[in-house]
Amino acid sequence: LERTFSIIKPDAVKRNLIGQIVSKLEQNGLKIIASKMVFLTVQEAKGFYAEHDGKPFFDTLIKNMTAGPIIVQVLEGDDAIAKNREIMGPTDPEKAPAGSIRKEYAISMQQNSVHGSDSPESAQREISYFFSEIEVF
Ligand code: ATP
Ligand code: MG
Repeated sequence: LERTFSIIKPDAVKRNLIGQIVSKLEQNGLKIIASKMVFLTVQEAKGFYAEHDGKPFFDTLIKNMTAGPIIVQVLEGDDAIAKNREIMGPTDPEKAPAGSIRKEYAISMQQNSVHGSDSPESAQREISYFFSEIEVF
């Protein structure tokens, strides 16, 4: 059993897609073990995406991630990190396979509806960035 961290991004929250995205995660065998809505400040978004600081898309990324509230979640399941990224589909929605979250809901690379951790190390860091010990057990 593995844990991963997931975000439903502002573009999806705005378009009333929380329930449909959560359903896809649950239907594919991921269990939600922590969940809340937060509204990131620019500083908080920059800290979360620090690895992308300096890249050409960084400013737009921060703008989009602070455009409205987001849902942050901890997901648990067999092979949860890889499974979540498979359910999400690739970063570019045009390359995403039918049935994936990004194929069905994403607007563009920048407004691609979801985030998912890409390694056990980032999952651990990202969970700790948003959740305290009493929120995730
Ligand atoms: P995420 O980290 O959000 O789950 P990811 O792992 O698929 O997505 P990353 O390479 O970590 O993609 O990039 C983080 C986010 O930055 C992407 O989800 C996307 O919104 C944006 N992004 C990444 N690469 C590009 C790019 N080449 N052009 C525009 N936006 C990009
Ligand atoms: Mg990433």
